[in-house]
Amino acid sequence: MRDKVAVVGSGLIGRQWAMLFASGGYSVSVFDIEPKQIADALEGIHVQLKKLEDGGMLRGTLSAEEQFSLITGSSSLIECVKDAVHVQECIPEVLELKRKIFKQLDDIVSDKTVLASSSSCIVPSLFSEDLKHKSQVLVAHPINPPFYVPLVELVPAPYTKPELVTQTKEVMTKLGQAPVVLKKEVDGFALNRVQYAILAECWRLIQDGVLSVEDIDTVMTCGLAPRYAFMGPMETIHLNAEGVVNYCERYGQGIYNVVQSFGPTPTIDPSSETAEKVQEALCKKIPLDKLQERRQWRDQRLMALAKLKKEL
Ligand code: NAD
Repeated sequence: MRDKVAVVGSGLIGRQWAMLFASGGYSVSVFDIEPKQIADALEGIHVQLKKLEDGGMLRGTLSAEEQFSLITGSSSLIECVKDAVHVQECIPEVLELKRKIFKQLDDIVSDKTVLASSSSCIVPSLFSEDLKHKSQVLVAHPINPPFYVPLVELVPAPYTKPELVTQTKEVMTKLGQAPVVLKKEVDGFALNRVQYAILAECWRLIQDGVLSVEDIDTVMTCGLAPRYAFMGPMETIHLNAEGVVNYCERYGQGIYNVVQSFGPTPTIDPSSETAEKVQEALCKKIPLDKLQERRQWRDQRLMALAKLKKEL
């Protein structure tokens, strides 16, 4: 008998989770308040699984057809969640909606079910504090597209049972994801805090007229990113001197001085001159009606990189 996972919300992220859980051999039930979304999701998942199989990127030991046969649509939340060991909530990023769905889930789950939210930035205590099963709630935040970008941020609330966090970490690892556990709730979790720090500094360098839009992107794609695809900033500094302590001795003061010079956080204002300038430069390269094509190009590149990393 296979363990059952319930995926609640079958949009972009719900579909990806359904595929990932099926790849791990789980029986997956998918629910959405829009019945058409479920039908579209099943159709889309079938196509995607075939594509992954053809591209040699299917996870797990089952074929695409076998994985697809593990995924079913459900027209009732109660049916979907019944007997599930893990519920993965994937509804829109609106706090009131999250509160409402977790209240509904609270009334139907057992004392053992893990209640995981895919939320990108809402800390779990904001939608679980009043629940009977609050100690079973955490955030499991995937990065899009999760098949090629395997990080999952696990964010427990202060009252989440540690054993459920460990269990979820093991499940994510089994799926082939790379889970990290935040030891406390923090706005933006980890990935977006780092991403926003980079974005804010890039914005400032454009705003202050130091670099063009094209050149700031080159700093990342041809400078930091190649290295960061294989090692993080901590291992980087370890290798860039004779260990971390030696790195701090050599460069610590200089880094502190530069960071001190950053000044106040720039506002990422849509009506600012900087926003206009960045938009104009990007639209020359990728007009707004070509965004979808470029997203496909990005996903193909990410797939190629994931493949390379698997082979290395
Ligand atoms: P989406 O809009 O593509 O899908 C949301 C789905 O939820 C829709 O199909 C909608 O019909 C359904 N829904 C709405 N209310 C519901 C309810 N009460 N019960 C069941 N289904 C309901 O959204 P998405 O991009 O898949 O995002 C889902 C969650 O994942 C959000 O919390 C988002 O922050 C997070 N997330 C998104 C991304 C991303 O890149 N899109 C990445 C990581 C995490």
